[in-house]
Amino acid sequence: MQPNSSQEGTHLRNGLSLTLQAELPSRTTPSGAAGTIHSDANERHPTSDADPTDSADLDSGEPTTSLSELRCLFRWFQKSLPFLIILSAKLVLQHALGLAVGVGLFTTFLDVNQSIQTQVFLQACHAKLHCVWLLLLLVSSTLLLSYTFLPQTLYNCLVFLSPTFEPLGFWEVLWAVGITNFIIKFLCMGIKCLLLLLPASLLNYRAQGRWLLLSEELAQVYQAAAPVPLWFRYLVTYQEADGNPALTVGVLLALLYLILKLLGLYGQCKSLLKTVRIVLKSEHTGTAATRSQCMEAGDVCPICQGEYREPQSLICQHIICDQCIALWFNREKSCPLCPTVITEKVYKWKDGATSAYLQIY
Ligand SMILES: [Zn+2]
Ligand SMILES: [Zn+2]
Repeated sequence: MQPNSSQEGTHLRNGLSLTLQAELPSRTTPSGAAGTIHSDANERHPTSDADPTDSADLDSGEPTTSLSELRCLFRWFQKSLPFLIILSAKLVLQHALGLAVGVGLFTTFLDVNQSIQTQVFLQACHAKLHCVWLLLLLVSSTLLLSYTFLPQTLYNCLVFLSPTFEPLGFWEVLWAVGITNFIIKFLCMGIKCLLLLLPASLLNYRAQGRWLLLSEELAQVYQAAAPVPLWFRYLVTYQEADGNPALTVGVLLALLYLILKLLGLYGQCKSLLKTVRIVLKSEHTGTAATRSQCMEAGDVCPICQGEYREPQSLICQHIICDQCIALWFNREKSCPLCPTVITEKVYKWKDGATSAYLQIY
């Protein structure tokens, strides 16, 4: 704060005037003239030439401190930015192959996932040729991946064996787990394409939804189990060279990981068993509607806007085609025309979607 700002800037209104000539000699003007400060218990009026930061400092120290820390951090970031850019470029160049493979796999996954969902939604109108194309794309991607990383025997991860990485570093494990996860996702999507290619006489839309759900649940359990041997081996052998105490800690960490994993897998297996029960029993969301009921409803399905095909009467008395309602309940719980809840749970994987969650542990 400037030496004379407090003298000139503060104002007195309670009638108590303090002459600071004797008490605060340091706050007098440089010329030595006595300054009279007017103080008020409730109000302060800083002058326009007073530094706003300084006055904030006096009012409350904490916000200004955190603000200045942020400012410091920002200044450090600003100064280091050129070096950070150089470092990032180096890292990108070093891992160019890995990044390119990762981006390629993820975009392929997103594209195929969306296409499968569209084909499931189209039902009888879906293009078999497009499904064949998707299947070929998935198979060739999987084979290409296996062939590219043949020296590391990455395919071993699929059968719960370790690939040939020496030494087994953190990044190698993460890489192997990521690639394995994508391969399992691709295999699962390949199975979904095969299910779509089956004729409707063999697999109707209801059964198709149930099998799509089962294949996804199975793939998720597989994805959760596949990285276990890799991480277990990494945790156990990490500090082996450092001696016995480190090895004990490693074993302890690996066991802890195993317990957590088993608990997670237990939950997933329970969900899988529930799905198997759903697959085995044929579900009904309504009863077959009579001709007069359809006439009353206007003879037009409210979802497909066409003539009724196998009309079903829901518990709320609304009439909808069996196929339309089967697809509707892949995503919703209630009737499409009123808020009546028809099913307890939505099994979202029935629509052919594959989880984008990357299982890295
Ligand atoms: Zn319909
Ligand atoms: Zn309804």
